[in-house]
Amino acid sequence: MQQHDTIADLRHILAGLRRAGKSVGFVPTMGALHAGHRSLFQRARANCDVVVASIFVNPLQFGRGEDLDSYPRTLEKDSIVAADAGVDHLFVPTEREMYPDGAPLTNVMVSRLGASWEGAHRPGHFDGVAMVVAKLCNIVQPDRCYMGEKDWQQLIVVRRMVWDLSLPVQIIGCETMRDADGLALSSRNRYLDPDHRRAAAALHAALQAGAQEIAAHGESDPSAIGAHMMSVLANEPLIEPQYAVVVDGDLNCPEHLSGELRLMIAAQVGPARLIDNIGVAV
Ligand code: AMP
Repeated sequence: MQQHDTIADLRHILAGLRRAGKSVGFVPTMGALHAGHRSLFQRARANCDVVVASIFVNPLQFGRGEDLDSYPRTLEKDSIVAADAGVDHLFVPTEREMYPDGAPLTNVMVSRLGASWEGAHRPGHFDGVAMVVAKLCNIVQPDRCYMGEKDWQQLIVVRRMVWDLSLPVQIIGCETMRDADGLALSSRNRYLDPDHRRAAAALHAALQAGAQEIAAHGESDPSAIGAHMMSVLANEPLIEPQYAVVVDGDLNCPEHLSGELRLMIAAQVGPARLIDNIGVAV
């Protein structure tokens, strides 16, 4: 695996590979790599000639008071994980390389899809995500970009951004990797002490309970399902629930349940703000 710090260096290498007819798969990450990231690398490895991953803790997607400074940075371990999973080129730009003038003068702004749920709790977050993914896709020019369903709203926002900006890349959503108790793997799980780690399993338990209300009890009122998931979270004293909702493909709350839906949940668990989701078909 080769590591690249500059846009020019990575572009030079990839241009040659593309000229030779190689397909390029890309996995953008913020590092602190875990088995969830590894699954994306492996998916790209299985389907593309060349696998590129990036590690960049993007300041534009963090709000004031969020964990930008404390976000785990574990580059040495990360490069071993990436190399083991078959990454060919690891792009690790500095902030200065990505945003040489500090804040860029041109930005990608996400309207409706980025305003609700995570966007409501983290104003500007999806503008920052869309900006960095657009920029990284312009640098790497991949055929396919692999992203986790774990960040469901992010996946929807990025798909729409690619469509709106006519970026020539296919966004591939990949299933969520979980610990044995159902907790979705996340770099932020490292913030949890043993008690909060135990409590965090309630997020997945609440999603399962919501799905069960639909499948086993025939509940058809979306707000009742949301309330049920919130009540499961509320039973865990170490958790502060933020939202628990059923949404359709456009992230709207449907009046009635039908088709492909997503149960989405967010909660503060001690020092970590965690999100999760699962799909249900009605
Ligand atoms: P991050 O480093 O948190 O920005 O995540 C980089 C990519 O990995 C994003 O597309 C995430 O959705 C994805 N990802 C994070 N956690 C998981 C997980 N548990 N399973 C699958 N993909 C994940």
